Amino acid sequence: MTPYEIRQLREDLGLSQAQMAAKLGTHYRTVGRWELGLYAPSPLGLAQLEGLRKRTKGNKGMNIDIHAHYVGSAYFDLLDKYGGQLSFEIVTDSHGERALKGRSGAPSPTRPYYDVEHRFGEMKAMDVDMQVVSLMAGPVPNVHLWEPEVGLALSRVNNDAYSELAQRHPQRFVGIAAVPLQNVDMAIAELERIAKLPGIRGVQMCSNIKGKYLDSEDFWPFYQRVQELDLPILVHPASSVLGMERMNSRVEAVILGYPMDTSLTIVRILFSGLLERFPKLRFCFTHGGGVIPYLRGRIEWRYETAPEMKASLPHPPSKYLERMSFCSAIYDDGALSYLIRRQGADRVMMGSDYPASLGVPQPVEQIQRLADVSSQDKKKVLGETAASFFKIL
Ligand SMILES: [Zn+2]
Repeated sequence: MTPYEIRQLREDLGLSQAQMAAKLGTHYRTVGRWELGLYAPSPLGLAQLEGLRKRTKGNKGMNIDIHAHYVGSAYFDLLDKYGGQLSFEIVTDSHGERALKGRSGAPSPTRPYYDVEHRFGEMKAMDVDMQVVSLMAGPVPNVHLWEPEVGLALSRVNNDAYSELAQRHPQRFVGIAAVPLQNVDMAIAELERIAKLPGIRGVQMCSNIKGKYLDSEDFWPFYQRVQELDLPILVHPASSVLGMERMNSRVEAVILGYPMDTSLTIVRILFSGLLERFPKLRFCFTHGGGVIPYLRGRIEWRYETAPEMKASLPHPPSKYLERMSFCSAIYDDGALSYLIRRQGADRVMMGSDYPASLGVPQPVEQIQRLADVSSQDKKKVLGETAASFFKIL
């Protein structure tokens, strides 16, 4: 545990340094300057403190952000090597910092993606206790866009970085692994590896993999193994999305394209029989599942009125929809309240999309201010559901 985390623990418990010293007695020693909080409890003292925090935080619960992005420094080293394949370039920006330059736009600084001390400050300002970290679709490219061998190399350095981060800060982070699904055999091989990595609690898929949606039977051998390993799947929008060729700008793609792509992949899953074939598969879709929760009646009605659908699917799509989970990053209080009431607080988890520019700046506050959601359900959305879904506690 780092001095920062020990200090955080003390602050969580509302203890002064002297009170903490008095509580721990001999299970405590100073390892640096007292006023900076550089002290270290013995293992026994640490266990006492953890127990105390669990009892104290039991009332409040841990606030867990399940949609947060982290990219290790080594991932950018590989992008520096292979970025040219996809017109990415690692450059030095005007502040002398390492930055990622895509086909268009200003170079994006890489440090915010892996500077943990900076992140701790931001998590504190957001009242987030723990982040479930994963890769994004942009501006940092995901692993499935590359030649399979490069995708595998990127996945490995990413997953090792997450495991190392989670082991270094077990109270603060767990990781969602990336796998190179452009080659399913390689993805399964990496899945076997990450299943044994400490601190990894799930696997990521994008809403489409190079144009292939998630119902594709090409992925079914992968799903078979994911189900056997009992790992949840976190689905994030892809960078290349539905209808992009008809959109005038990236603004339209961000507003409409991403949620529509997620929605299309969900509809395909609902009607494909995938969840019938794999009854224990657990999906969580980011950004509230796109527009799907609001199209539920339409989806049901189509099933009821189309005999060929009834013949091919033994249960109505709502039965499969009920098994899906969603993150809360949807920006509108009314829509979020509806999602929680309709889907249930056992199926909605707080997500911020940190540190994306479109991220929800105060995700905890947003959930806490929802007038028509019970305090019990808020606790679930803030962390209890995530703790159980990702087996965090
Ligand atoms: Zn995101």
